[in-house]
Amino acid sequence: MKNLLVQKYGGTSVGSIDKIKKIAQRIVNIKRSGKHIIVIVSAMGDTTDTLVDLAHQIHSNPPSREMDVLLATGEQISISLLAMAIELLGEKVISLTGPQVGLKTNSTHKRARITDLDDKRVINELKENKIVIVAGFQGIDANDDITTLGRGGSDTSAVAIAAGLNADKCEIYTDVDGVYTADPRIVKDAKKLDRISYDEVLEMASLGAGVLHPRSVELAEKFGIPLVVRSSFHNEDTGTIITTDERMERTEVKGIALDNNIGKISIMEVPDKPGIAYRLFSMLANRNIHLDMIVQNTNRAAVNDISFTVDDDVLQEALEVSQEFAFEVGAQKVEFDKGVAKLSIIGTGIVANPEISSQFFETLYNLGVNIHTISTSETKISVLVDKNLAKNAMISVHKAFGLDQ
Ligand code: ASP
Ligand code: MG
Repeated sequence: MKNLLVQKYGGTSVGSIDKIKKIAQRIVNIKRSGKHIIVIVSAMGDTTDTLVDLAHQIHSNPPSREMDVLLATGEQISISLLAMAIELLGEKVISLTGPQVGLKTNSTHKRARITDLDDKRVINELKENKIVIVAGFQGIDANDDITTLGRGGSDTSAVAIAAGLNADKCEIYTDVDGVYTADPRIVKDAKKLDRISYDEVLEMASLGAGVLHPRSVELAEKFGIPLVVRSSFHNEDTGTIITTDERMERTEVKGIALDNNIGKISIMEVPDKPGIAYRLFSMLANRNIHLDMIVQNTNRAAVNDISFTVDDDVLQEALEVSQEFAFEVGAQKVEFDKGVAKLSIIGTGIVANPEISSQFFETLYNLGVNIHTISTSETKISVLVDKNLAKNAMISVHKAFGLDQ
């Protein structure tokens, strides 16, 4: 659709009635400048955490389907309130839930994937000159059950809607001014980046910089939707633009990311024969558990140890699957370690630059930080280190690459 802007406001941007009123005014101003506008919102403030907490007061392992019915209510509160605030300012507006907006997903509750967008309803509403407010983070599966997309999933809802309707761009409003060279809460000298590529920000996001839901960036790249991350509190700031990589001459480190919310699982003495890794990883894949930093060591003739890291929130499930696997193939035991963190340097092409990797490892060596595991991709080098040393290491590595300048 021509002249269409998609905006997403995160939980802190709609965290109080006051903030909702401010955002309503801002949206109305954009509408009056002659644009169609769709606004995706998250739940107010800590609402989602509070809902998770309520569930756990009843059930230690709440059924996923019911969890989604519960979690989806958070966004329903914020869309209705925002729509009321806009109505008061005299514009035509309608709030729609994920199911109403036709966001179809698979049936993997709590981390569903979007399969389709039936855009008829939204287009009709836009044609009637309404501002459309959409509940982020939620959709509907083939059985008409409510699903959610995983924590932070409103970004992905926004990009899916922007892609489905071919919007000019998708603006993500949050409580930070944009994408930084490192998490400014940990690294005080972190600097805001004006531009970054999809691939780089994807590494930043999935490596724990927490700026964007990783799947939103994948989707934006796939459909070529420019993403803008900016603050809803400072009107002047232009934020960070995320687009395709215009390969610079110089390979450089763009940012440092730290992920503290991971755990390492090790399966000891797995029989060394073809098909074993396939069996383990397909069992995990069937449960939709995303793995990272996979290592296999051959330590004795007929057995290997296999280790990998997973996000904290799937650690329990991954452990159960690993134990089931260990029992089936006759592995010796399964261990897990929550005392590790993943520290990464990010920048297109850095892996191929020996000076950059040696500088990284030298800095860690000078700090006396021991490295448990190393993994690389075209855009990053990651190391697994002790959690208690990780923050300091992050600050030093940030400095070593001159990102504080
Ligand atoms: N409210 C959901 C969460 O906190 C989704 C989101 O904020 O994007 O995870
Ligand atoms: Mg959020």
